[in-house]
Amino acid sequence: MDQADMIFYGGLHLEGKMTEIFEKLERSKPTVAVSRDIDTSVLRSGENAGGTQYDPHIWFNVKHWISATETISDALANYDPAHGDLYKNNADKYIQQLRELDEEVRMVIAEIPESGRVLVTAHDAFGYFGEAYGIKVMGLQGISTAAEYGSKDVSELRDYLVDNKIKAVFVESSIPTKSMEAVIAGAKEKGHEVEIGGELYSDSLGEPGSDADTYIKMVRHNVSTIINALK
Ligand SMILES: [Zn+2]
Repeated sequence: MDQADMIFYGGLHLEGKMTEIFEKLERSKPTVAVSRDIDTSVLRSGENAGGTQYDPHIWFNVKHWISATETISDALANYDPAHGDLYKNNADKYIQQLRELDEEVRMVIAEIPESGRVLVTAHDAFGYFGEAYGIKVMGLQGISTAAEYGSKDVSELRDYLVDNKIKAVFVESSIPTKSMEAVIAGAKEKGHEVEIGGELYSDSLGEPGSDADTYIKMVRHNVSTIINALK
């Protein structure tokens, strides 16, 4: 980061303790939180031991990622005004793709029968997704991957799955699957079969060359995993 000309980061405490480093670097070079232009009135609150004020998983509402794209493009044009038009044109093209993606996600999620439109995941990364695309979201642990979950969380989630006959739960690339396995085993004891619907990307993209190595591909991967398990 010392050698970078500019630095972009998520913000909203996504980077945890590293946030202080970014704030220091801001004095010596352009250092931009890509979430900075999103109106706080549309942010979800997120409280946990790490002191998160807002839920930082904004990229799961594609509209918020359009805002981030504009923020990045403006910052680049400010830093390098000679190429301002280039940044702006590229951003416009990308934003058009994101608008189409946003519409596509809304249509696909609407194909799931309403009673089954419940997304159960390990940590609360999908709050913005649920809000934007009309699917109820339940997480086993809190907003941060660092938070602990207790046996009460496991039994409450198990009962919800059994009572509502939810077919599938999802594991995440950034979280061990152990926690979800306990929930599934508990539901089975109560006579309800739940399957692991697949792995969702919650906090990062897939490896280069995977089907989730860009933002748009990552969103599509998640949405097709969800629809295949729940429809
Ligand atoms: Zn997360």
